[in-house]
Amino acid sequence: MVFGSQAEVSDVYPSVPEEVARLAASPEIRSAFNWFRTQEPQLAHWQMEMARIAAPPFGEAARGVWLAEKFRELGLDDVRVDDVGNVFGVHPGFGKRYVVLSAHIDTVFPAGTPLNIRQQGSKLYGPGVSDNGAGVTAMLALVALLRSVRVRHAMPFLFIGNVGEEGEGDLRGMRHIFATQRWKDAIAYSLVLDGAGSDTIVAEALGSRRFEVIVRGPGGHSWSDFGAPNPIVVLARTVESFCQTPVPTSPKSTFNIGVIRGGTSVNSIPESASMRVDIRSTSMAEMERLEAILRQALDRAIEEETLAMERRSMSQRRPFGLSCEVAVIGNRPAGELDPNARILQVIRAVDSHLGNVAQVQRASTDANIPLSLGREAIAIGGGGAGGGAHTLQEWFDCSGRELGLKRILLSLLALAGVSA
Ligand SMILES: [Zn+2]
Repeated sequence: MVFGSQAEVSDVYPSVPEEVARLAASPEIRSAFNWFRTQEPQLAHWQMEMARIAAPPFGEAARGVWLAEKFRELGLDDVRVDDVGNVFGVHPGFGKRYVVLSAHIDTVFPAGTPLNIRQQGSKLYGPGVSDNGAGVTAMLALVALLRSVRVRHAMPFLFIGNVGEEGEGDLRGMRHIFATQRWKDAIAYSLVLDGAGSDTIVAEALGSRRFEVIVRGPGGHSWSDFGAPNPIVVLARTVESFCQTPVPTSPKSTFNIGVIRGGTSVNSIPESASMRVDIRSTSMAEMERLEAILRQALDRAIEEETLAMERRSMSQRRPFGLSCEVAVIGNRPAGELDPNARILQVIRAVDSHLGNVAQVQRASTDANIPLSLGREAIAIGGGGAGGGAHTLQEWFDCSGRELGLKRILLSLLALAGVSA
């Protein structure tokens, strides 16, 4: 796609690799690459400054304020925070549709987690420095670049620091953006920055559905109320039958019973029992199938336990009922990028131009939302290297961050189009 004002529109559009090569050869891009090289101390500083502001799930407000302030300082237009706490800033261009660069600002760490953020040489340490310190810092590097170095582009850029990517956040920030009239159809491409590295392209959205299954019964004394239905037995029967379900390897689908609770003492028939079930797949249909099987297994287990109770009970006893509830505690949609999508062609052309080797992967990221809506989106890393994500030992190594930044810049420009 070439956006030219009075440019002679060539009969033959350049292929994506040609366009990337042409972009990368321009003097502007060479100055941009040089600029990245000189900025590392500033970037590491921002990264640590941000990581020192707690951002537990549903508690990202203070970090959002910090980011909005940075967006304003760095000259973005129309800086705003929406109802759920997503932070937006625009770098203007031509046309009404945007190329989005986003990074989640939340962490997995609960409020009160000690944030001992420190630097040793090129390495940064502490909770959240990489996930998503690396992503947010790379986004800020791009914002700062556009202010300092003249880089032409056609479509406008929309920068977003979004909330709610991790855990119970359940992608609520991104979900809100794609449910908002103002943005929904105005976003042409989404480039999501999540964590460190330059070696991955997440183009398949791993979906998940998580349930809390709760079974309740009358409870009772193990001796005198013998015969009353037992919620733990219902769960055990459900697990036994659900776990027999065959799952396909393609689309890869999995399930897990991760937590099971119930009962009060060895000599009491429990009044309730619960379990947490995680179902994952890249296919929505497969997740729906597994959910239906789980629900059927539960209904059957209740029937079986009711029948068993009737057999055990004395005739004078009134049969007490069992009840169950399946609460959805997580729901991330699945989706796959069309193999011919332009965003995929762009990132591949950029990688081959930079001599970077990256694998297409399947993961659960903010890109799940646009991908599940059939939109063009990928998630990539913010450069450098990282490890220990979601632990207090998390680290980020700034060396090599530049490659990640070049990769992001070339992708953004190729997506936005540059006048010849
Ligand atoms: Zn992340």
